[in-house]
Amino acid sequence: MKLTRPSDVRTILGELGMRPSRYLGQNFLCDENILGIILRSAGLEPGDTVLEIGPGLGVLTEPMLEAAYRVIAIEKDAALCSYLRSRFIDARNFELLEGDALDYDLESLLKRGISKIVANLPYSVGSRLLVEVTEFAARPETMILMLQLDVARRLCAKPGTRDYGLLTIRIQLDYEIELTKTVNRTCFHPPPDVRSAILTFRRREEPVAQVSDRDFMYLLLKLCFSRRRKQVGHILRSMSNDLCIRPADIQSALDAESISPEKRPEDISISSWAGLANRLSPHNRHSEKGEWETRQNRM
Ligand code: SAM
Repeated sequence: MKLTRPSDVRTILGELGMRPSRYLGQNFLCDENILGIILRSAGLEPGDTVLEIGPGLGVLTEPMLEAAYRVIAIEKDAALCSYLRSRFIDARNFELLEGDALDYDLESLLKRGISKIVANLPYSVGSRLLVEVTEFAARPETMILMLQLDVARRLCAKPGTRDYGLLTIRIQLDYEIELTKTVNRTCFHPPPDVRSAILTFRRREEPVAQVSDRDFMYLLLKLCFSRRRKQVGHILRSMSNDLCIRPADIQSALDAESISPEKRPEDISISSWAGLANRLSPHNRHSEKGEWETRQNRM
């Protein structure tokens, strides 16, 4: 049985008495060319320990077990888990964790020496998992991820574009991201509703900019990008009370970062956002720190 052959995938699913679940994003990859691109991008070496989220029938798992030192996979579907256990019964370097990846302590898992994450992610939880994993100190060096194309475009976006936003900035702070290949719906069984893309994430040696309080920066970005067609000076003034910022501090922070108050959020680079957040963070403005902490505790 060849998992890149759609007829074989249908046969296996039939034998398991399984109908692919939309809820679990079960669109199984069955395209040899796309599989090859993912594996070449991953460039697995004998020392690699790989995390795969959502192995499905194991189309990626099988070649990864041959190339890597160890593959740890998390699969939520119990029927797929028992299939995987019997399929890879002889693979001593395979570890299957049955359950929801969102419920696992992924940070502890990553600390077990995982160098790469390679996954065709379930789309419903893909961005959430990505944001979680990239926040850890032990964030992996390399990730090769299949995501839906619109999320992929947001992740790779450049300033000045419609796709540039909070998600872009959050992940690009720590990772260089390349859109390796767009993938047609017909490469999966059953075909998903939207096109997909393979993304390659490489952890930067240093973040694009040092940010003293990332939570504050993310809040600032969330508020600003929720009004992305407005000018940044106007947005900041209108929410100065919520963020415990004095209007005078807004102007001086914008001046210091050479950001025109007429710019829109999507026209500001990642390093300028970082600079602005550092200057506006109540933790760095001692007069407002107490008031900010009181408000945070109340929320
Ligand atoms: N890797 C396989 C492939 O490429 O054919 C399957 C990919 S399919 C897009 C997503 C897989 O993730 C399914 O096997 C599904 O059961 C599993 N899954 C969905 N939600 C999950 C979750 N929260 N945690 C772990 N696995 C999940």
